[in-house]
Amino acid sequence: MVEIAAVRKQYGGTDVLKDVSLTVHEGEVTCIIGPSGAGKSTLLRCINRLEKLDGGAIYVDGRMVGYEVRGSRLQELKERAVAPQRAHIGMVFQRFNLFPHRTVLENIIEAPVLVKRVGKATAIAEARALLERVGLAHKEDAYPNQLSGGQQQRVAIARALAMKPSLMLFDEPTSALDPELVGEVLTVMKDLAESGMTMIVVTHEMGFAREVADTVVFMADGRIVECGSPGQMFAEPQHQRTADFLHRVL
Ligand code: ADP
Repeated sequence: MVEIAAVRKQYGGTDVLKDVSLTVHEGEVTCIIGPSGAGKSTLLRCINRLEKLDGGAIYVDGRMVGYEVRGSRLQELKERAVAPQRAHIGMVFQRFNLFPHRTVLENIIEAPVLVKRVGKATAIAEARALLERVGLAHKEDAYPNQLSGGQQQRVAIARALAMKPSLMLFDEPTSALDPELVGEVLTVMKDLAESGMTMIVVTHEMGFAREVADTVVFMADGRIVECGSPGQMFAEPQHQRTADFLHRVL
């Protein structure tokens, strides 16, 4: 479902991603862990083309992100043309990025109505079903600042799901939350994983990675140091770097 092939990314001459390759299969949950500055967030942003690559390629659903095939040539898509590709990829950020002057329901229907031209009645019905799913059916008329951080993040997840993505990316979705609110967001993510959604999750929540991930990827210094099943990664890391990191965080 996602093929990351020899991806390189630089910022101002510094290599932030160095030859990163990774395959994510449909319906699987991949958790990316590693120290701050490892390039985890940059890799996620490359997958939905919020960042351009300096080398390599990323394929989602068999299509090369940011490019299209024209005859026998590969042509880079303009920003406007990337939007439809990105519509298949939901992203949830550390900060929830909800529109502050719109209600919960309005936040959720915005993209389906404006980008996908879904009829408003249909969009509202689907948004209500999603709110039910994230446990916030009673909050559809609330404004974001009337909600807790955990509730806002659950709305952000519902908003991403409203576009019916085939892939969901999560960039440290719980790290801006008070500790007592982390669980409710992880529960929603776990339900989503159990429903068969393909997910790539950058997280510091080792319990979540251990319990929910099919594959755990450890990144450091712009490289994938190792990846494996949670059982293997947490019990028998193959590299000292991984062992040192896990020792610090567990
Ligand atoms: P992580 O998510 O693992 O903490 P990031 O992907 O955020 O790591 O960052 C990797 C490196 O790239 C860091 O050294 C960071 O300072 C740098 N970086 C990230 N985004 C930018 C940017 N927009 N401009 C310049 N440097 C950046």
